[in-house]
Amino acid sequence: MAEVLVLVDHVDGQVKKVALELLTAARRIGEPAAVVVGEATDGIKAKLAEYGAEKVYTAPAELDDYVVAPKAELLATLATDRSAAAVLLSATAENKEIAGRTAVKLGSGVLTDVVDITADVVAEHSVFGGAVVTHAKVRTGVPVVAVRPNAIAAEAAPGAAVEEAVSVELSDSAKAARVTERVKQEQGSRPELTEAAVVVSGGRGVGGDDFSVVENLADSLGGAVGASRAAVDSGWYPNAFQVGQTGRTVSPNLYIALGISGAIQHRAGMQTSKTIVAVNKDPEAPLLEISDFAVVGDLHKVAPQLTEEINKR
Ligand code: FAD
Repeated sequence: MAEVLVLVDHVDGQVKKVALELLTAARRIGEPAAVVVGEATDGIKAKLAEYGAEKVYTAPAELDDYVVAPKAELLATLATDRSAAAVLLSATAENKEIAGRTAVKLGSGVLTDVVDITADVVAEHSVFGGAVVTHAKVRTGVPVVAVRPNAIAAEAAPGAAVEEAVSVELSDSAKAARVTERVKQEQGSRPELTEAAVVVSGGRGVGGDDFSVVENLADSLGGAVGASRAAVDSGWYPNAFQVGQTGRTVSPNLYIALGISGAIQHRAGMQTSKTIVAVNKDPEAPLLEISDFAVVGDLHKVAPQLTEEINKR
């Protein structure tokens, strides 16, 4: 069975949940082979084995010293050498760039923001606020597919996780942009935005930089906090939490939007959420069209009541 390469997102020695989702998807297509850049700790390897990785390719941490290009070289080289059936990545902003570059090197096609994938590598997209589902397939070369976090449920299945060290000769162009500093975003005890099962986002309707009404509701549900661009541009919440076309893409089980109108650029980043709840004082707000539940009212009254009720349970 042909290998399916899965680029593993990991941080602080922990595999991110999306990598387990990708391994689950990879098992449908062929033999999952995890690709870990940097130290594959025992914890990482155990998790990858638990979710079906038959191989674990480990590449030097040095590849992470440069921006995106080395990982694309690594994936393209591995895909060619191992005659891979597909390359899967999480659809983060950085990985989507890696995906595009990998596909160019392979002379193949790339599919991004995918929400499901079949054994034949037919990828599903959800567009127009979930109103339309499209299917696409790469017709040339090794398909490179970037899948949204939370889109596919991770299912455990044992794998051999045979480790093999791999490396790649970096061209000068791959070293063109060096990472000088990584700043960890302070998010306290909240889950990472793109991985969270629950996201509560605040928009211009919050009315100022006191985001506690949003944070309190998020905390009552063990969720992450997001923000619309209007809130971010106003300086009310940090840029790293912006949801949308020019922000992060989220696909949680539950997305609660407080005082967000639902512009197409915001919807682009949250429309594949499983359940969408909007709180807006305007019954005509566009977000209500794609919401499963809507509360028409003042968020400063509705959200604290909701938080209080949830905290009672
Ligand atoms: P508004 O559109 O002003 O809506 C505020 C909403 O709050 C209204 O519906 C109002 O009825 C409601 N409201 C007000 N007060 C209350 C209250 N007390 N209680 C309840 N409801 C209340 N936007 C993004 O979010 N993410 C992006 O990534 C993004 N990328 C963009 C990229 C480009 C190239 C462009 C041109 C725009 C982008 N935008 C993005 C901006 C987008 O077009 C909208 O301007 C933005 O999403 C609006 O944010 P908002 O819904 O918070 O504000």
